[in-house]
Amino acid sequence: MFRRILIANRGEIAVRIIRACHEEGLEAVAVHSEADARSPHVLHADFAVDIGPAQAAQSYLNVERLLEAARKTGADAIHPGYGFLSERAHFAQAVEDAGLVFVGPPASAIHAMGDKTEARRRMAAAGVPVVPGTTETIGDPSEAGRYASEVGYPVLLKAAAGGGGKGMRRVNGPEGLASAFQQASSEARSAFGDGSIYLEKYLERPRHVEIQVLADRFGHTLHLGERECSVQRRHQKLIEEAPSPAVDLQLRLRMGEAAVQAARSVGYLGAGTVEFLLEPGGRFYFLEMNTRIQVEHPVTELIYGVDLVREQLRVAGGEPTTLPGRPLAPRGHAIECRITCEDPAENFLPATGRIEFLRVPSGPGIRWDGGVDSGSEVGLFYDPLLGKLIAWGETRDRAIRRMRRALEELVIVGVPTSQPFHRAVLDESEFLSGKYDISYVERLGPSLIAGTTAESELEAIAIAAALAEDARRDVAHPRGDAATGGPESVWLRTARQRGLR
Ligand code: ADP
Repeated sequence: MFRRILIANRGEIAVRIIRACHEEGLEAVAVHSEADARSPHVLHADFAVDIGPAQAAQSYLNVERLLEAARKTGADAIHPGYGFLSERAHFAQAVEDAGLVFVGPPASAIHAMGDKTEARRRMAAAGVPVVPGTTETIGDPSEAGRYASEVGYPVLLKAAAGGGGKGMRRVNGPEGLASAFQQASSEARSAFGDGSIYLEKYLERPRHVEIQVLADRFGHTLHLGERECSVQRRHQKLIEEAPSPAVDLQLRLRMGEAAVQAARSVGYLGAGTVEFLLEPGGRFYFLEMNTRIQVEHPVTELIYGVDLVREQLRVAGGEPTTLPGRPLAPRGHAIECRITCEDPAENFLPATGRIEFLRVPSGPGIRWDGGVDSGSEVGLFYDPLLGKLIAWGETRDRAIRRMRRALEELVIVGVPTSQPFHRAVLDESEFLSGKYDISYVERLGPSLIAGTTAESELEAIAIAAALAEDARRDVAHPRGDAATGGPESVWLRTARQRGLR
């Protein structure tokens, strides 16, 4: 295997990977931008290399700087995490060409799945059902019009190079098609440098259900069941759970088999996720494959008792997976809430600021995968994810109760977060019934958020007041930085940020 791994990422996933490295007796090299010099991932690592300015294009996306950092520190392998360069085939290739191990699938598999039309062609050929639509990119709006009338409105225009919901437009009828085509194409061009568009039938209220797969060099390609990811806002996941309330054993086996087939057809290696849209009758369609570790991987880890990052490291090191060849049975239920620095009361506007105080929940069945600490500055340069709160219980109901308790314990002062939104969802009847779909947040979001804002403001103020009181009594100041403020400033700053002063 290897000895020293460079993690080409930041935030919670970098910390998560460093932890797995340490459990395996491997050394971890962190890289960081100028903005992240004192971030938790840097403090967790054995070595750290400054790779440039805050702008990701000049640091976390800078292939040359990353390879140079690996050379300088004698790293033998690079783990890309998720986002950034994790799904760029040219990066995987450059890592291999530099004589290092890429902790991920071969560049050819990333390439095959990275172009969504190519992926659709391959899946159709491998017998995996795809959403009805085109398997080639579309030249112009009139061609789009012909395909749209073939599959029937509503349709979804999507970017062939897509990701993160960018370059996607729903079109309800012929009149809106031409302008939506131009918009989707120009959004795709600016996000991915490629404006190619294809078309899918827009499915009404399906669920987003994805399958975790894992493949090694010894011919094992297996799946670890599904994750339910239908609580989404603008195609971004907010809450995930496993198992899905909509999937029984038989459907799990069918979807798992399709996912394994998808992975095999591109010569997949390591951990990956095959995403599907699931319709109420049990019909499912391939959406895309994410050729990397996924944000929501912990819910699978908790119900299957595996460490997916450890498995990634083993496979990359040429070892077999530790999992048995037969299908594993999940145990209990897990839920993840993504705690982001976004203000639900302001339409999830990304916020910035200093985390004055952070208290992380713990106790039975609770896991916190975080990327920030008390004193962390949250800027606008990167993803707003602060950390992931994950709860496990014997049943869905037990997991929900634990998550509610953990959301009560979690305290973040100084920046608005998605926490009040999560609390509201965990008390909402449709979510509790398990019978929700991808339209959930769009339909119920505004009413969920309205009821929670006042309470969370009051809570933040109460916490800030308590902190100020502690500081006054000369209890250790949570900010850990006496230079920037006396006891009152926590209170004042929080009040100001909440618009109360
Ligand atoms: P991206 O790669 O940009 O995330 P995906 O293809 O994975 O795009 O789709 C993201 C989300 O958009 C899905 O989880 C689903 O909510 C919605 N979506 C995608 N395709 C369709 C479709 N054909 N019909 C309805 N909703 C869709």
